[in-house]
Amino acid sequence: MKKVIVIGGGVAGLTAAKRLVESGKFEVKLLEGDSRIGGRVHTQAFGDYWIENGAQWVHGEDGNEVFRIANSLKLLDTERNLISVSTDSVFVRESGKVLDQPVHDNVTIILAKILDGPEEDEVEGTVGDWAIKRFNDALEKYPLDSEPTDKSLSTAVLDWIHRFQDNIDGCDNWFQPSLRGQHEYEECEGNPTIAWKSPACYSSLLGVILNGVPITAPTFQPVLPDWIELNKDVQKIELVEGENSGVRITCSDNSQYTADHAICTVSLGVLKHFHKTLFCPPLPESKVKMIETLGIGCVNKLHFDFKTKWWPDSIIGFNFLWNDTEHVAQYWNSDIDDETLKKEIDGLPLWCRNILGFYVVASHPTALNSWITGPASKVMETLTEQEVKDIFMKVCRKFLPSYDIPDPVEFSQTSWFSNRFTKGSYSFRQMNTDAWSSALEEPILGKNNAPVICFAGEATHSKFYSTVHGAIETGVREAKRLINHEN
Ligand SMILES: Cc1cc2nc3c(=O)[nH]c(=O)nc-3n(C[C@H](O)[C@H](O)[C@H](O)COP(=O)(O)OP(=O)(O)OC[C@H]3O[C@@H](n4cnc5c(N)ncnc54)[C@H](O)[C@@H]3O)c2cc1C
Repeated sequence: MKKVIVIGGGVAGLTAAKRLVESGKFEVKLLEGDSRIGGRVHTQAFGDYWIENGAQWVHGEDGNEVFRIANSLKLLDTERNLISVSTDSVFVRESGKVLDQPVHDNVTIILAKILDGPEEDEVEGTVGDWAIKRFNDALEKYPLDSEPTDKSLSTAVLDWIHRFQDNIDGCDNWFQPSLRGQHEYEECEGNPTIAWKSPACYSSLLGVILNGVPITAPTFQPVLPDWIELNKDVQKIELVEGENSGVRITCSDNSQYTADHAICTVSLGVLKHFHKTLFCPPLPESKVKMIETLGIGCVNKLHFDFKTKWWPDSIIGFNFLWNDTEHVAQYWNSDIDDETLKKEIDGLPLWCRNILGFYVVASHPTALNSWITGPASKVMETLTEQEVKDIFMKVCRKFLPSYDIPDPVEFSQTSWFSNRFTKGSYSFRQMNTDAWSSALEEPILGKNNAPVICFAGEATHSKFYSTVHGAIETGVREAKRLINHEN
């Protein structure tokens, strides 16, 4: 039997490894650097319930492999939808004033026009330039400011939409992703943001992939087969040329593995940071160019368990509209240094202007979550947990002075950028990314054109990049590549 080593136990790696095992043609070993499988699918116990640190929604129905699997097992709540979660959330100004209904309605109409995405012939330029134009066009019909001379509300709303869009694209700011990239990304028809039905959660999928049965809360890690090894931090992937080509893998604990093929499923962020030391010989120029020019940002989630619910049942979230647009214009600048981001303005560091708001958590009745992106999100990761919690609570109380908000009894924050097994949240197509080429997914060939080192993972998907269903498809793709090669 031919030997295959799969590097990484996210959904791409698990899918590829399982397919190869099932084919009966390969001896498979999966090496996962972390102490758990799942990668950017990470459900975690939180108080009496659970939270999703990574992937949360199933994006669309037709042609979506996650939807197909989860819907057939009745694991999804198809009623909820991210767009309505954000638009049904109230918009709050720094003074604590909630936008009146007619203005709120105009904001949601304008937001929907931007979320509809560009027309077919709108392909040039950045997402940001396009969105600002669409915003200004819509503003003429759906005004937000009461006085034509006072643009403060429309500026604050545009800033919030900017932050919201950055969370969707996973970028530092909306002048990074290209409009062309939005066209390259393909939506699956149907509800674009489907939630898991409690006690199912994103980790339910890991059980289905590995063992054919979902796991449900409070179990978040399935029973692992003996071909998966955890805590195996791969440091070197070497192409070995002998009579037949093969691969040698070295881990940080000095353990070594040899095989006929490897499938590398580490994230684009890990490739960006470590490809020069990870691969021997170095990766071909075309692949390096894709690695360097594709984008990956840093979307972080924060969760707060208050033990008792202090917000009314009618509220599903609070979107924060900052007044000081002079400063909000800086926080997303990719070149901004950490010291500037940490500088205090009116008692709060600049970076916290990126906080999107606070939102109810479907899986947790007494918790709220918050989102932050870009350089602000990265600088936040350098602070202590206590500092981060204090600042978020200060912001929450500043925007919501009419509520008596207790201190959270439990707090959790992600650090997707400093996590050396992810180095970012999810990929996007930047302005300097060439039109999609298959360079990133192409295998490194050995003798007789054998695909010795293969590549999978969300960033290698031509049209479903940045998603779980995209990652799964790349795992299937690479398993098929090896199975076909052996036939
Ligand atoms: C905050 C956030 C929200 C998201 N929301 C959604 C969503 O709502 N819907 C959606 O569809 N997608 C969402 N995504 C994206 C989705 O989670 C990813 O696209 C998908 O999980 C990627 O799977 P993957 O297998 O390609 O990569 P990963 O999950 O990153 O798997 C790679 C694995 O490789 C391991 N690894 C890395 N380096 C090494 C090494 N040197 N040695 C050994 N192992 C290593 C990692 O630990 C990891 O387990 C979100 C992601 C984040 C971060």
